Amino acid sequence: MTPPRNSTAARDIAYALHPYTDHKAHLKDGPLVISRGKGVRVYDEQGKEYIETVAGLWCASLGFDNERLVEAAAAQMRKLPFYHAFTSKSHEPLVDLSEMLIERAPPSADGAPMSKVFFANSGSEANDSAIKMIWYMNNALGRPEKKKIIARLRGYHGITLAAASLTGLPANHKLFDLPLPGFHHVSTPHHYHNAQPGESEEAFATRLAEELEQKILAEGPETVAAFWAEPIMGAGGVVVPPATYFPKIQAVLKKHDVLFVADEVICGFWRTGNYWGCQTLGIQPDILVCAKALSASYLPISAVIVSEKVFQGIAEGSSSIGTWGHGFTYSGHPVPAAVAIETLKIYDETDIGGHVKRVGAHMQAALRERFGDHPLVGELRGTGLIAGMELVADKAKKVNFDPAKKVGGRLSKLGEKHGLIMRAMVNDSLGFSPPLIITEAEVDEMLDRLGTALDELMVELR
Ligand code: PLP
Repeated sequence: MTPPRNSTAARDIAYALHPYTDHKAHLKDGPLVISRGKGVRVYDEQGKEYIETVAGLWCASLGFDNERLVEAAAAQMRKLPFYHAFTSKSHEPLVDLSEMLIERAPPSADGAPMSKVFFANSGSEANDSAIKMIWYMNNALGRPEKKKIIARLRGYHGITLAAASLTGLPANHKLFDLPLPGFHHVSTPHHYHNAQPGESEEAFATRLAEELEQKILAEGPETVAAFWAEPIMGAGGVVVPPATYFPKIQAVLKKHDVLFVADEVICGFWRTGNYWGCQTLGIQPDILVCAKALSASYLPISAVIVSEKVFQGIAEGSSSIGTWGHGFTYSGHPVPAAVAIETLKIYDETDIGGHVKRVGAHMQAALRERFGDHPLVGELRGTGLIAGMELVADKAKKVNFDPAKKVGGRLSKLGEKHGLIMRAMVNDSLGFSPPLIITEAEVDEMLDRLGTALDELMVELR
C-alpha cells in the first residue's frame, strides 16, 4: 500500500537509509512508524499497541516511559551538557559511573577486581576499542606478533570494521569484504544442532574446548591475543551453551595466555538472572564490554571494563608514546553517563534482579508449557528474561525450514498483526528479551498473542 503523500512513512521512504533493512522491499512496503511508548508497550502512528518482546534491540530494560531517567538527563543537561575526557579532563558523572561499574563488575580472570572503565557510544565502538587496547598492550609488552582474535560462528559483536570481523554471521561479512585478516571463528556451542549423535552436553563442551585448543595451536599460541564471546549469544539466535562450556574454554585460554573478552552488551545488567552473564555462565573475563541496558538505552553509552593487567599494558604503551591515541569526542559524555548512573540506581533500588529471577522463571516455564509440544517449535532455550524459540520443518529430525521461505520473518509479521513486535533471526529463531520490568501478567499476554500468531502460521504453512 502506498503511504499518503507527505506522511511520515512516505518521507521515510524518500529520505531514510535504514540499518538492517532490505532496501528494495522497504521502498515497496515502507516503515512501521512508532510514535510513543509506555511500560513494555509501544504505539504506532495509528495508535495501535504492541508489546515489545525484544525491548527494542534487547535494550530498553526499563521500558519506554521512565520519568527518573528523563529527569536525570534534563538535570545533567542544565548543569553541564557536555564535557570531554581527553588529556586528563574529567567530570563527576564519568567518575561516579566508572566507580559504580568497577564495584559491580565480576572478578577478572586473575581473580583480582576489575581495574578501569573506558566509555564509548555503542557496543560496536566498545568492541573495537577493546581490540585496539589488546593490540596496543601486546605491542607495548614487546610481543607484536600476539594479535589474532578468535570469536565464534553466530556470535554478534557489532558492525564497525573490527567488531563486524568478530561477528560470526554471514550477513555482516558478505559484500563487505569482511572479516579482516587475523579474525578467526570457532564452532557455535549449540548442542541442539551441532552435537554429534548421542553426544552429551558435557562431551560436546569438551569437544568444543578441544577445537579451540587445536585452533590456538595451529595458529601458534604466540600469535593469538584474545577470545571473544557473548555469555549467551543474542542476535545469533539466543544460543545458551552447555553449563561446563565456558569453564573448559577458560582453562584452554589460561593455558595459552589468551585473554577472555566477555561481550555483555545484551547479557549485562540482570538479563540472564544475574547481574552479569559471566556469573550465569561461569566466566572470569580480562575485559568486559557492556552497553544497551547500561543506560536502559535512553541515551547511547557503552563501556569497556578492563583488568589491572590490561590497564598496565595500556599505561606502559601510553607513557612510551606520550599519549594513548584513542578516545571518542563523546567518551563518557556527561548526559548519557548521568542516565546510566540513574539506571544502575533504579536496578539496585527496585531489586530488578529479584524481579527478573521471578518473572524470568515464569516466562521460561510458560514458553515451554505452552509451546514445547507445538509442531513448529524445535527448541526453546534461555534463562532469566532472555529466550529463543526455533521454528523447524521437522521436529523429530531437527530440520529447519528452507531459509527462502522466511518462516521466522512471517511469524514476526503475524505477530505484528496481533500486537507483538518480534525479532526473527538465524534458523527461524525468534528472540524474546522484553523490558526487565515486564510483569507475569504481561508475559502471559505476550504469549497469548504469540500463540495466536503461531496458529495462524500453521494454517499458512499447510
Ligand atoms: N555486542 C552484542 C552482544 C550485541 O548484541 C550488539 C548489538 O546488538 C553489539 C555488540 C553492537 O552494539 P551496537 O549496535 O550498539 O553497536
